[in-house]
Amino acid sequence: MDDPLSKKQITYRDARITGKYDQIWQTVGKCCFCDLRDRYIIYEKSDVVLTISLFAYIDGHMLIVPRRHLRSVKEFTPEEWEAVRELMYIAQKIIRKVWGIKGVQFIQKNGTSSQSSVEHIHYHCVPFDAPDLSVWNYRQMKFTPLQNAQKYQALGEDLTKLAKRYEKKYGN
Ligand SMILES: [Zn+2]
Repeated sequence: MDDPLSKKQITYRDARITGKYDQIWQTVGKCCFCDLRDRYIIYEKSDVVLTISLFAYIDGHMLIVPRRHLRSVKEFTPEEWEAVRELMYIAQKIIRKVWGIKGVQFIQKNGTSSQSSVEHIHYHCVPFDAPDLSVWNYRQMKFTPLQNAQKYQALGEDLTKLAKRYEKKYGN
């Protein structure tokens, strides 16, 4: 039953390559992160879990997932947020220990439009040993870095307002 080389385990292992992953996501009805399996969990702190990714990009790929169905960073309690930091630290250390890889990419998935059908916030902890895993589809840009900076800076007071609104609604 807990055979690490069962047919199901092999299907998970190869799902990103075989294209099965896409089929699986389209048929999943419930939130998979509200229903984490104990046998994949590596560590837990303040209701935040460090677990193995069933559909890994690379061996050693882990996820940090809050137990609660949170949709955004603003919903974390201070305890949960501190636990995320601690689990990021642990993830980086054990990736180095187990795989000898010093680099980690933490990728936060936030919202159903962020390349994922899951709205439950989670962080991918991806061992990073070579850039082949992170080939982005860079676009030809319309604006220079300075123009991009100016577009945000032009928000002026709105930036301060956003910060104030955050601190009032979600701060401690
Ligand atoms: Zn959930």
